[in-house]
Amino acid sequence: MSLATLVDVLTKANKENYAVGAFNTNNLETTRAIIDGAEAQDAPVILSTSLGAFNYAGFDNLATLAYKAAQNAAVPVVLHLDHGTDLNLVKKCIDAGYTSVMFDGSHFPFDKNVELTKKAVKMASEKGVSVEGELGTIGGAEDSVASREILLTDPQKAVEFVEKTGIDALAIAIGTSHGAYKFTHAEQQLDIRRLSAIKQATKMPLVLHGASLVPKEIVELGQSFGAVIGGVQGVTESELKRAVKNGVNKVNTDTDLRLAFTAALRQTLMKNPREFDPRKILKPSTQLMQKVVEDRIRLLGSSGKA
Ligand SMILES: [Zn+2]
Repeated sequence: MSLATLVDVLTKANKENYAVGAFNTNNLETTRAIIDGAEAQDAPVILSTSLGAFNYAGFDNLATLAYKAAQNAAVPVVLHLDHGTDLNLVKKCIDAGYTSVMFDGSHFPFDKNVELTKKAVKMASEKGVSVEGELGTIGGAEDSVASREILLTDPQKAVEFVEKTGIDALAIAIGTSHGAYKFTHAEQQLDIRRLSAIKQATKMPLVLHGASLVPKEIVELGQSFGAVIGGVQGVTESELKRAVKNGVNKVNTDTDLRLAFTAALRQTLMKNPREFDPRKILKPSTQLMQKVVEDRIRLLGSSGKA
């Protein structure tokens, strides 16, 4: 009942100027945290799975879990392939009932990116599935997608890319980077002027990757129970709000859920040395991830938009 496409949820977000949270999952606990968090906030949500997640959990295991969780949710859930770089995987996801796929051809030259993304759009549109494309490169490493240099998205090229491919949403590079180790100094900021120009030129739903906040309290919780994480800095809350205000309608979150999962896990194991039931050990991790999901949804302005 509750499977929605990216077009369903982002058309409204674009019109009403808020962003829908996209969260990566690779297991049961994370999936439940995402769905329960979205339901608690009465918000639409995008449940994302990447190639790395499939490699970890097994394609059928994860696709089935995610599909059923989405279908049974009380809020609209987009079942989404994150960073598809292989058209075979795109097809596999469409066949498995995904309602949205990202084709990431951003590491190819412009024409090749257009050519491959168009193929993904053709496959997807026959089944009513939405497509996210990417132009420009986001730094850092995300599973199989790694990039050393960051090429920011050019507004005019973005228009050409959207027109030639027929995508439904566009991931742009405006200075964010995948993972927790983004910026070495606080003054580095997102290129909001560029974002604004891309929005004015394309008028379409824009997507921000690499936008983890790396919440201080979660990093500190992990550190207090032995985590060795230092010099980490994410995007600030105010920067993320500005990005949404200026046209971002989908914001990806992965690292922050990982930080929450492991911080709570360290705390639970240290505090309960006699506990050996994995269900009890993993519960606080699920709860802390759900809190991150709910905080992010509120920040993006999609609470109550289900
Ligand atoms: Zn990404």
